[in-house]
Amino acid sequence: MDGHEARANLPRNMIENSMFEEEPDVVDLAKDSAFPTLDPDEVVYEPRSSRLLVRGLGENDMDDDEEDSESSARLLGMSFMNRSAAHRAGSSPYARQAPPSSCSRPSTRTTVVCVLFLVIVVSMSMVLYFLPGCTFTRTGCPKENSTAPMEPVYPNSTTGEPFPWAELRLPASVRPVHYDLTVNPDLDAMTFTGRTVISMAVLHATKRIVLHAADLTVTKATFQGQARVVTLLEYKPHQQVAVRFPEELKQGQRCVLTLDYHASLSSTYDGFYNSSYADKDGKKRVLAATQFEPLYARKAFPCFDEPAFKATFLVRISRRDGYVALSNMPKAKTTNITGGLLLDEFEKSSVNMSTYLVAFVVATFQSVSKNVSDTLVSVYSVPEKKDHTIYALDTACKLLQFYNSYFDIAYPLKKLDLVAIPDFLAGAMENWGLITFRETSLLVNNQSSPLQKQLIASVVAHELAHQWFGNLVTMSWWNDLWLNEGFATYMQYMSLQHEYPLLDIGNHFLTVRFRALDKDALNSSHAVSARADTPEQVAEMFDSVSYEKGASILLMLNASLSGDLFRKGIVGYLKKFSGSNTVTDDLWNSIADVTQQHPNIPGMMNTWTQQKGFPLVSVSRDGDLVTLTQEPFLLSTDATESTAPPTSRWHIPVTYVTAGCSLTPDCVQVFTLENRNATLKLSKDVKWLKLNFQSTGFYMVDYGTAGWAALIEALTENCTVLPREDRASLIHNMFALSRLGRVSFRQVLNLLAYVVNETEAAPVSEALAQLNTLHLQLEKRNELDLASYILERFEALMMNQTWGEEPCVSKQELREALLQTACALDVPDCLQKASDLYRQYANGSARVPGDLQRVVFSVAARSEDGWAELMQTYAQSSDDAQKRKILQALASTRDTRHIARWVGGLRGELVQTTELPLIISAVSGGFAGSLLAWDFTQQNWDALIKKFPVGSFAIQSIIMSTTSHFSTQTHLDQVRNFLGSLKKRGSQMRSVQVAVETIMLNQRWMDANLPDLRHWL
Ligand SMILES: [Zn+2]
Repeated sequence: MDGHEARANLPRNMIENSMFEEEPDVVDLAKDSAFPTLDPDEVVYEPRSSRLLVRGLGENDMDDDEEDSESSARLLGMSFMNRSAAHRAGSSPYARQAPPSSCSRPSTRTTVVCVLFLVIVVSMSMVLYFLPGCTFTRTGCPKENSTAPMEPVYPNSTTGEPFPWAELRLPASVRPVHYDLTVNPDLDAMTFTGRTVISMAVLHATKRIVLHAADLTVTKATFQGQARVVTLLEYKPHQQVAVRFPEELKQGQRCVLTLDYHASLSSTYDGFYNSSYADKDGKKRVLAATQFEPLYARKAFPCFDEPAFKATFLVRISRRDGYVALSNMPKAKTTNITGGLLLDEFEKSSVNMSTYLVAFVVATFQSVSKNVSDTLVSVYSVPEKKDHTIYALDTACKLLQFYNSYFDIAYPLKKLDLVAIPDFLAGAMENWGLITFRETSLLVNNQSSPLQKQLIASVVAHELAHQWFGNLVTMSWWNDLWLNEGFATYMQYMSLQHEYPLLDIGNHFLTVRFRALDKDALNSSHAVSARADTPEQVAEMFDSVSYEKGASILLMLNASLSGDLFRKGIVGYLKKFSGSNTVTDDLWNSIADVTQQHPNIPGMMNTWTQQKGFPLVSVSRDGDLVTLTQEPFLLSTDATESTAPPTSRWHIPVTYVTAGCSLTPDCVQVFTLENRNATLKLSKDVKWLKLNFQSTGFYMVDYGTAGWAALIEALTENCTVLPREDRASLIHNMFALSRLGRVSFRQVLNLLAYVVNETEAAPVSEALAQLNTLHLQLEKRNELDLASYILERFEALMMNQTWGEEPCVSKQELREALLQTACALDVPDCLQKASDLYRQYANGSARVPGDLQRVVFSVAARSEDGWAELMQTYAQSSDDAQKRKILQALASTRDTRHIARWVGGLRGELVQTTELPLIISAVSGGFAGSLLAWDFTQQNWDALIKKFPVGSFAIQSIIMSTTSHFSTQTHLDQVRNFLGSLKKRGSQMRSVQVAVETIMLNQRWMDANLPDLRHWL
């Protein structure tokens, strides 16, 4: 993990060079094996670009500047939410692939060139020196092929023969054009057989074809038709197979490789995996589904498993009668085959697809459908939940029309299926034409609350946006994952605001931006564009930076451009790169093409994607002059580091409003802060100014003592002088500045004095979220409790909340936050009303509104009877959203015996394994269960990473939820020791650094503020 971070922090040119450092390239030059010393295979595949990066000698010929701009972005990295990148640590050979230490050190291009030169010179002189008689060695002549330092380092394949490729990335000499894919799953034996026929084009003369395959047993390999059997070599650590040819395949040649194989259906959540559920009669039903992103298509069929290797696909799947088979394209025909089975053949894909977007499902599902534009939209679910699919169907149809028109490119396929999979780890997966979902992300019943519908609409909007951003135009490599995920996340909020204003998604997006800032303030964060080489690094790209920070900087850009320019820019981008692959600069250049007012969009946006973190803008006023100063907002745990001169700069599109005009967009003043300082004039009579209108910019602001005092005074007088987003962001910024050590907690309390008059969800929930976090940390240290302070501020508002059905989303959000805190703090009125409502619910005389389910069930779960009843309701209920609330309620019990018995007994029978991160998070949130959750995680680590691979979002979540509330040296030592001892089973993860850093920061804050807090509270 240290190595990972070190690389991510390198300056651009250094990171770029480091890709040339791997040992095989260097040694290849002097080898004498059957493989040519430098052949055109020594290139890494680059889509679209006409130029190829030659690895080995060829790189020397390149123009430095020219290459710098293009390949650094392309090959290094840029960087949600709920995608697993299932890869078992134990089977992850990539850990061993770290370059030797002498090579991992950052070096300049010059150094690399010099090293290469030296290697050549030394190799030649050694050859000359050895020839005459080997007199200088004690052992005499070295044995042939056994001692010379220039021994080829191609690894051995499983048969012991040299495997003709040593890189993690595939060679670029051959590219796939079309896959003809047949799979035959056996749902009794939990196995499948397959035949993959790959048509390829030879781009450069080569003697090898190298592609990916993992956990597949290939029984036969033939080349150019069935007659010519060839030997398939396998190198398991890289999940690659290869064929070597005695003669060169000629440039421009077309060739066909056919592979027959068999494998087990995966028992994790990736590749072609098996899953099951109990039907309404309690009978076990099995199904098979796929999850290929990012690196698991190779577990279902041999393929060139990198996003830039796009091809067309024709899929055939055999099934039993009574099952349906689905794939990306519509079904073309069904034929009877041996064994009483049916073979479905799907149309050849009309588009070029990356392998990670291929998908198939074989299950006993049923569907509802509707035609919209020229697309048949269907939602599939288990038969028992068919009634819960209507909302998703309507939403998908409406949003498909919205995107068709917004992007000005029609969805290119004739059908779009949305499938609810009973046992699915990610929230959803955007496979082209066959989007798979967790049931809880797709299904709602008629009585579901607007907040539940908001969740469904939001996931559907995200996955549909991917059909353009990701599927039609795909990032060239995983380092640019944010081009997929940041965009889809931004579009999910933007499309809902446009098409579903009543779902009021704005507060949710605001909270998402606050949490993205919090994570990006850590030293362990990374640039949106960060390096991702190994499978674990690729898995960890699915994080808050790629999703939420990506979405935030797009919002910032859109907010700083006038009118329709942002949309025009992305339409231009989608049209220009339709069907191909891109890097981040392609996006900025496309937007720059349509915006005359900002000629330097790439220059501005690169400051946000190529360095981690974000700026803190400090405001100081002197007469009518206002000075703004930017510096990095870095929560450093090292005192010396935080005082280092700030060197990072951002091009910040600063917005501000002032007393007198502060509520509407017409009031907003805009300018770009590019240098460290800038000044602006403001009449002395203007009492205050507020930067970052509606918090659309990805930065924080410190107004200085006088500036804060003026804002606090204005809010105390009348808090509606600022929009709700601005009030929430003042609260958020103030807490962050306290964590940074810039303001005392006294100032935080000064600001919070105004909230007794606050009635809006965004500021209230932000204040409660911050205070509850603090409360939990203090509680765990057995320190003073914040409860009475919180109640003093919010009790009146808590008492005002209703307990009936509430159609307004923001009112639901408000009361959910307030009542959850009230009952957690044992406010008698809250406990009483929750218990009453639960009684009515239990005897069937009332419903519990969706937003109140967690609080009502949590109170009920405190009693023995309530606990037992809820367990039973959980087992019998088919309302998935309600079941999750019950789980969270059960997990938040204060009875440690319940928790211990229950958590210890979690073996996937009653509760699906996929819910484990949710349960661990809920248990950790309580006083009683938090230490148990941490113990459980330590004791069951190996079992956990078998189900949720190292680096996956689930594992990131488990680490953070079990450790982020610690703030003592003892806990810090424990966490560090345990996570550090994991070695290849997890120590290298970025989330380990995040966890350790978070505890250190908590500890630092406590040391600095506890004495005063004891005094004030
Ligand atoms: Zn996504």
